Amino acid sequence: MRLGIPPKKLTDKNHEKVVDLLKKWNISFDNYTRTESPVHKEFVQNHFLKIQNNGYIFTKETELLRCPKCDRFLPDRFVEGICPHCSSERARGDQCEECGRLLETTKLIQPHCTICQTTPIIEKVTHWYFDLPSFTKQLQEYIKNNKQLPENARNFSLNFLKEGLKPRAVTRDNKWGIPSPFPGSEDKTLYVWVEAVLGYVSATIEYFQKQGEKKKWREYWFDKDAKTLYFIGKDNIPFHTIIFPALLLAVREGYALPWNVASTEFLQFEGQKFSKSRRIGVWIDEALQLFPVDYWRYTLISIRPETKDTNFSWKVFIEKVNSDLNDTLGNFIHRTLSFINRSFDSAVPKPRKLDERDKRTLQSVKKRTAKIAQNLEEFKLRAALRVVMRFSHLGNKYLNEKEPWNTLKTNPQASANALYVAVQFVKALAITLEPFIPLTAEKLWRLLNLSGKVHEQAWSEAAIPLQPGHKISKAEPLFHKIEATEEELPAMLEKARLNARK
Ligand SMILES: [Zn+2]
Ligand SMILES: [Zn+2]
Repeated sequence: MRLGIPPKKLTDKNHEKVVDLLKKWNISFDNYTRTESPVHKEFVQNHFLKIQNNGYIFTKETELLRCPKCDRFLPDRFVEGICPHCSSERARGDQCEECGRLLETTKLIQPHCTICQTTPIIEKVTHWYFDLPSFTKQLQEYIKNNKQLPENARNFSLNFLKEGLKPRAVTRDNKWGIPSPFPGSEDKTLYVWVEAVLGYVSATIEYFQKQGEKKKWREYWFDKDAKTLYFIGKDNIPFHTIIFPALLLAVREGYALPWNVASTEFLQFEGQKFSKSRRIGVWIDEALQLFPVDYWRYTLISIRPETKDTNFSWKVFIEKVNSDLNDTLGNFIHRTLSFINRSFDSAVPKPRKLDERDKRTLQSVKKRTAKIAQNLEEFKLRAALRVVMRFSHLGNKYLNEKEPWNTLKTNPQASANALYVAVQFVKALAITLEPFIPLTAEKLWRLLNLSGKVHEQAWSEAAIPLQPGHKISKAEPLFHKIEATEEELPAMLEKARLNARK
């Protein structure tokens, strides 16, 4: 609307763009769908009718903001003003980004229409409401008993409940959106921020319809042992721990409530909030014009804001790529593989009479891969990645102590043993790097001359040693240093940005 393009056309275009970018970033989904899907629409309408039949929907006359100049009611995100709670000046109609509270549009101080800046007028309209307060007790118990919820989600939700729940309007006067199913509300649509969370259920239904197993979705939502998991930013917490569970409870069918909501804090860019309009940040399409996708994936995971806000800076990016990826990880892999190419005719050497140090190093593979898996299962991606990187730190240290380039002449078997051990670390790296930097892991898999795709390997494969005599391919560097300085990178980004627009 703001861009002068029909909403459907705009969302179609954006959906395609997002699908393409996710692919380029090596992010894959079993079912990447959208709330435009007919399966979703039908599911949502039925779901809300069930909620109404159970007595949790009522109508109320309320006041809404209307822009006299644009001649329309203003959906929440088209109004901005001052937050009545924290006085932030950029609060949106439905939520204040600064303090995270959900807002009522008419309570905004000094509101203005974001399209034309005019001060809106208040008009009376009837809307359909969801009786959220009825679920206060059940939600309190759900949050208290849900031990694996991260701190931020738990604290935010408990405070939210303590402040008292309010009924939530579920209809809007928008032209686009899902038509409201309630009798008498034919000219209205369902409020997108309430309806969208039901997309988790409808996406499961859609997925199994495509698989030809129409009933199977129920196992994921009604089985006692089914666990659903959500990855969100902290501003989305109330939708996942309050509104979504309440909508599931309201149909009284025994839905499994969200098992875990892995909610991150915010990532900043050079100490500031990302902003498209103010051009603060790097967009994921531009990023790929500057550097390979794995440089970004590695850096972003290693600074993932898991427990507090974190900051992306060019300085950090250069450090991560040059020191971690290139000098530590890349160096360990390259020196190991090229040494085997050169001195052992590209064949994994045969180990004999390993000493204690060799044995300990070999044995650590199993323990370490188990630790990585455990961190991943607890959604500690940063910690997991740190353990992966330990392979290359320890590998480098091990080679430096063993000096196989010296013992090659004086004690060839010791040199062979060292390379046998080191190459097992390299293999473990190929498997354990895969969730983080899949493209690099696949390249490494090919350098090791192993069959199939690394993505298809079992996790336990990491600790299965390469056999003596196995021929590896010719080593090639996996990374390159960033030569530009942190002062030069912003200009490179500007250039990439201009190219992207052409
Ligand atoms: Zn606020
Ligand atoms: Zn306006």
